[in-house]
Amino acid sequence: MQEKALELLKLYRLRNTAMRRQVLELFLKAGHKALSSSNLESALEKTDRITLYRTLKTFERNGIIHQAIDGSGVTKYALCHGQCSEHDHMDDHPHFHCKDCGKTICLEGKIQNNVKVPKGFIVQQKHFILEGTCSDCSN
Ligand SMILES: [Zn+2]
Ligand SMILES: [Zn+2]
Ligand SMILES: [Zn+2]
Repeated sequence: MQEKALELLKLYRLRNTAMRRQVLELFLKAGHKALSSSNLESALEKTDRITLYRTLKTFERNGIIHQAIDGSGVTKYALCHGQCSEHDHMDDHPHFHCKDCGKTICLEGKIQNNVKVPKGFIVQQKHFILEGTCSDCSN
C-alpha cells in the first residue's frame, strides 16, 4: 500500500507528505468503501484536522478521491476508479448506504435517468443513492 500511495502521489505530481501518504494508504485499503473524516482521524497516528481537511480537498481537486453523498449528512470520500482528472470528476456511479451500520460504498455501473430538468435549470451534480442493508448486516 505504501508503494502504491507513493506511486499515486508521483503520478499526480503531489509532494509527498506524511499526511498525504497515510491518507492515501487508508483510501487504497478501503477500496470501494467511503471514509468520513472521523474515520480517517481515528485511523491516523497524528491528527491535525486542518491538515487533514486540506489533504482531502487537494485529493478531491486532483481527481484522486470524490465525495460520496449518501444522504446521511456526513461528508464521505472514496477513491476514484477511472478517468477522473483535475476539476473533472467522472464519478457518476451510484453509492450504496447501509442503514444499519452506516457504511457507504461505490457501486459499479450507471443509473440511466430520463429526468426532465425544467428550462433554465442547470444541473451541476448528480447523486444516486441506494439505501438498504449491506451483506454484513443482512444476515
Ligand atoms: Zn472522481
Ligand atoms: Zn451494514
Ligand atoms: Zn463513489
